[in-house]
Amino acid sequence: MTEQSWIGKPLDMGSDLRAETANARHLSMILADTRAPRRASAAAQYAHDLLDRTLAAHVAGPVACAKGCNLCCHTFVSATIPEIFRLAEQVRDTAPILTAAREARAIGQARRFTARVSCPLLQNGLCGGYDGRPLACRTMLSRSLAACTAYFPINGSGALDYAPGAREARGRVEMILLAALALAGLPGTHVEMIQGLAVALTEPDAERRWLNGEDVFAGVENDSGDANGDLATWVPILMSLAQRAW
Ligand code: SF4
Repeated sequence: MTEQSWIGKPLDMGSDLRAETANARHLSMILADTRAPRRASAAAQYAHDLLDRTLAAHVAGPVACAKGCNLCCHTFVSATIPEIFRLAEQVRDTAPILTAAREARAIGQARRFTARVSCPLLQNGLCGGYDGRPLACRTMLSRSLAACTAYFPINGSGALDYAPGAREARGRVEMILLAALALAGLPGTHVEMIQGLAVALTEPDAERRWLNGEDVFAGVENDSGDANGDLATWVPILMSLAQRAW
């Protein structure tokens, strides 16, 4: 298969990383195209579409998630900066975001799970930024409403019953996005989504300045999970593969 044949197609989730390599290289070229002022948002959309296609191809039902259920929308949500820019495009009312961002900042990541700060994008129980919601939200596919009900609103008793394949698909797409950002010389930091949105919505020309290397999100709480996990191992491997000739 040619490199082009892997671009934008559902990942096969096997041990062969050629699809991940091709997509990381393609995404890094999107991010490196300085003629496109919204290339960070465009990169997030590419990653979101890739995840949606991969989930559709690999996650078999039944899934308990249904329109109007928002049990998972009241906790710490982690997102990369390109995802923040994409989601900010969908915000119609900035005031609730700024209020929730102050609340989230005062509470901090460690207490967010039990504090239950509602996502300010919720409108009548539905996600007001559904098309642009980050990878973390897109991956919340549960097989059991009972497990979610026990886990989320009370105190984290039990465990979520993720649909098989959902978290692995997210991990692979995150790996592609982070490798592409690194190849383009951009940070792959994850920040707390609401505080990040507040910055993206209030800092003038935030996307262009961030793409030019300015640390526009310096005051935003980072995800403490960034330093841990498999991504720290796999992103450099994928970068190395993407830098080699096909
Ligand atoms: S962005 Fe949408 S899906 Fe994600 S937590 Fe907020 S309301 Fe829920």
